Amino acid sequence: MLLTLSPSKIGTFLNCKKQYYFEYLDPEIAKIKKQLKKKRAEMEMGSFVHDSLTLFFKTPPEQRNWVKMTEILKQVWQGPRGESYGFETLEQERKFYAQALEMLKWFVKNENINPDIFALPVSPPGKSFDDYLVIPFGEDLELGGKIDRVDKLTNGNLEIIDYKTGKEKDDNLQLLIYVFLAEKIFEKRVEKVRYIYLKSGNSPAVAPQITDKQNAKEKILDIANQIQNEKEWAPHVSKLCDYCDYIAFCPAKK
Ligand code: SF4
Repeated sequence: MLLTLSPSKIGTFLNCKKQYYFEYLDPEIAKIKKQLKKKRAEMEMGSFVHDSLTLFFKTPPEQRNWVKMTEILKQVWQGPRGESYGFETLEQERKFYAQALEMLKWFVKNENINPDIFALPVSPPGKSFDDYLVIPFGEDLELGGKIDRVDKLTNGNLEIIDYKTGKEKDDNLQLLIYVFLAEKIFEKRVEKVRYIYLKSGNSPAVAPQITDKQNAKEKILDIANQIQNEKEWAPHVSKLCDYCDYIAFCPAKK
């Protein structure tokens, strides 16, 4: 059976096989999945920040400044969004709005706001379906994902940027998946990849080497193999259970 793997699917499988089963395979959950999905304040704030950055780079370079960014965030947020977006109180939503402003302020002050943009998401704020890229990646396997931004370097090669509003990651697998996607789809070499951590201001750049790509490929194929042969879908209890939409159905819920 054809399997499409994305960074988030891989993350779910590695965190908890039971959660992966609920999310992608359980036919009973599939019927009620939309009702089970909870909006979470941190995630919504993250989406608003991502959408603001995309719209910011769609404005003409001469209009890109801090005032423009604040206008865009206001327009994207359309607040207060309230409980239906996971904000429990108006005060909590204001705090998240202030956090978003802080991250975007850091960005405008410290990042290049006039890069040579090669590709940006095309979907309107809140929608990302059209931006999901998919490529074949072996027998019965596809790779998919959504790239936040691709810049063109002066030598014609590409740089991939991924914005992060949450905690820092300890591996580059997500970025290497984007390298596979971008090189296949845009038919250009990706010379640099970078997470931009908007909270801490860290943005470690990586120049992916052939060995990095080989290692990533082996890891992805190994995970695909594990998923295709998994039978038990055992739960793995961790602090991430607090964010699981399927806890009420989980055999480990006690
Ligand atoms: S509640 Fe925890 S253990 Fe159960 S499926 Fe969700 S993440 Fe896995």
